[in-house]
Amino acid sequence: MEKKDLDWGNLSFAYMHTDYSYVCNYKDGAWEEGGLTSDHTVTLSECAGLLHYCQEVFEGLKAYTTENGDIVCFRPDMNAQRMYDSAARLEMPSFPKDKFVEAVEMVVRANAAWVPPFGSGATLYIRPFMFATGDVIGVKPATEYQFRILVTPVGPYYKGGVKPVKLQVPEFDRAAPHGTGNIKAGLNYAMSLHPSVIAHSKGYADNLFLDPQTRTYVEETGGANVLFVKKDGTLVVPQSFTDSILPSITRRSLVDVAEKMLGMTVEQRPVRFDEIDQFVECGMCGTAAVISPVGQIDNGDQSVVYGMEHVGPVMKKLRETLTGIQSGAIEDQFGWVHKIDVE
Ligand SMILES: *Cc1c(COP(=O)(O)O)cnc(C)c1O
Repeated sequence: MEKKDLDWGNLSFAYMHTDYSYVCNYKDGAWEEGGLTSDHTVTLSECAGLLHYCQEVFEGLKAYTTENGDIVCFRPDMNAQRMYDSAARLEMPSFPKDKFVEAVEMVVRANAAWVPPFGSGATLYIRPFMFATGDVIGVKPATEYQFRILVTPVGPYYKGGVKPVKLQVPEFDRAAPHGTGNIKAGLNYAMSLHPSVIAHSKGYADNLFLDPQTRTYVEETGGANVLFVKKDGTLVVPQSFTDSILPSITRRSLVDVAEKMLGMTVEQRPVRFDEIDQFVECGMCGTAAVISPVGQIDNGDQSVVYGMEHVGPVMKKLRETLTGIQSGAIEDQFGWVHKIDVE
């Protein structure tokens, strides 16, 4: 298989269409067989449920080349499960989990020429998504849906090495208490765009949202979970008592790495905002960057500083261990790296 002629080292995080997408429709109470398409557009009824009542959920994962040349992705079964749960919360038909993993394999295999080579730092971003295509005018769930997967090659998250970023506490909330903050739905992003644009205009990488009920506890950023480290090296993972934190696969993997590989103590509990100045490191975690170190958090005219000059040793170790497992440099004792056979 001949790779596409792309400048792999200089890709940005932008969409470019590849050879194939995967598409599968739901109609009359069942998912059809599904398969590849080279049509990268979607034609919808003007009355599609997606356009009026926002029935849409999505996932994000990546395929990449390991040191020995295998094309792999990371824990796709976890994305399948999360999308299953997200769909159920929005009264959408859940896409079968085995079929999800098979669809990811099928679309990556068909686009193998677009999977960046090892060492480029680039990956093939995989975006599964599902939306209501059926007509609805009265408020109710649609009866027809489309599940799709698009893939697009993207550059490394950090071009010039990993650098700490700043966060601010915004005046807005990301999710309602016991609302949809714990599912991966476009609607959670629609309402975070305004605070996100404000944060960026002030020089912050993202917002650190507090619990929407009391504004006392730390939740997460617009698109990543957060982690802290105590002076004694304990990893502190914020939990939400209003169920409004998205269950990050990266975060859950890092907790396993910390406990089972690095012998660290992990505390998963609600974390008060007024205790974060007791911590010595902070990081954001998600598929794109694995861990982005956070050097400073501002709330009005108060600042908590962890250091903008260097990456803390615990975040560095966690990041290196998980990226090492992903690349094949460190043995994968968990069975997380999922090989995709390409002939
Ligand atoms: C996708 C997402 C994350 C990160 O989840 P991963 O599975 O680690 O990529 C965190 N927070 C929000 C709000 C997200 O949408």
